[in-house]
Amino acid sequence: MKKKIAILGSTGSIGRSTVSVIKKNKKDFNVILLSTNKNIKEISKQIKLLKPKNLIITSHNKYLKFLKINKNKKIKIFNNYKNFNKIFKGKIDYTMSALSSFNGLQPTLDIIKFTKVIAIANKEAIICGWNLIKKNLTKYKTNFIPVDSEHFSIWSLIKNNTNKIDKIYITASGGPFLNIKKSRLNKIKPRDAIKHPNWSMGKKISIDSATLVNKIFEVIEAKKIFNLNMNDFEILLHPDSYVHAIVKFKNGLTKILIHDTDMKIPIFNSIYYNTNKTIPSSPLNFKKINNLKLSNVNIKQFETIDILKYLSNDKDTLYETVLVSANDELVDLFLNKKINFLDISKKLIMIMKLEEFKKLRSRKPLNFNQISNLNKYVRLKTRTLCVRSVHNA
Ligand code: NDP
Ligand code: MG
Repeated sequence: MKKKIAILGSTGSIGRSTVSVIKKNKKDFNVILLSTNKNIKEISKQIKLLKPKNLIITSHNKYLKFLKINKNKKIKIFNNYKNFNKIFKGKIDYTMSALSSFNGLQPTLDIIKFTKVIAIANKEAIICGWNLIKKNLTKYKTNFIPVDSEHFSIWSLIKNNTNKIDKIYITASGGPFLNIKKSRLNKIKPRDAIKHPNWSMGKKISIDSATLVNKIFEVIEAKKIFNLNMNDFEILLHPDSYVHAIVKFKNGLTKILIHDTDMKIPIFNSIYYNTNKTIPSSPLNFKKINNLKLSNVNIKQFETIDILKYLSNDKDTLYETVLVSANDELVDLFLNKKINFLDISKKLIMIMKLEEFKKLRSRKPLNFNQISNLNKYVRLKTRTLCVRSVHNA
């Protein structure tokens, strides 16, 4: 039986890696849905390759343009994520949630009803709306697999043994500026910041990697997924990104998971979980293993690490949405050259310290609209505070 599959954000970095895994095993799949915001060139290639039944193009201009040029009259094309009822007849087998930033939360929440398995790469959706995601997973009996490489590794290592964990170490490459003097960081251009030394990723996560915000996200993400506390985690620098997780158990054993820096590996394993399917991979790299260079993070170098101490041990609060939304806005401001690189961290810390937001550390998200309104408010506040303060400085 062919696996029915959907990819939210198929033109992004995770989306294209998922397409590449499927492409090698085309006969195994019936592609029900692909989606993009505006990349109609890439989606056209994917249509030829995978012959999906449905398509979502969210940018209105590109949607209209695509309708004019599309020759495949069998494919149904939608302009938003509000038509899952028309797209899915019963449950499909697997969905990859790989939209970027906060944009992924609503589609992720809505698609859970229509899929047996949901693999979520979109960490911002997990951070802002995990309690809502979990509620839907239970309600619709849908299985969840984390795809962020660290979380896939932890998930593979611990299975259901969360009560036996002493410490989980999450590794960080340190990004492209690990060895660059801080005084030079103000001159960093967006094009330098989006070049990651080990991974090829979307722009947003590449910037988050350079500021280390990505690791703060990953600690929160792991805390939620595995139902643990903030102090169960430690971030370690590991420039080679060969080790993806280290789990120390209370019985004295420590497990380390290593794989090549290629997101196709966790993606492949999330698709073919519990099967005998194999993927080609390089031989074990002894040079890297003999030189893991694990070290603690220096707060002088990565100021954002300070944010960890403001985060609450409560599992799900609206404060995490403040972090995601302020950071989304700051990264956009940086990419549009309105603020400089070091401002991202400085302003993020400033926003997280505002009393009006700190109050949210004990408020649980109740529904999507509440999170979405907060997201809009925080983005506006961040823009107003940061652009003005930078111009007045
Ligand atoms: P990309 O920016 O490369 O891709 C994002 C996808 O979402 C694209 O298909 C994009 O369409 C679409 N999209 C962007 N904005 C919107 C919008 N406003 N409305 C609808 N669709 C939109 O991101 P990545 O693939 O790098 O990351 C995806 C998620 O996975 C993120 O949350 C990231 O943190 C997480 N992740 C990524 C990893 C990686 O290696 N890249 C590793 C671990 C987690 P278009 O192509 O038209 O822009
Ligand atoms: Mg990761």
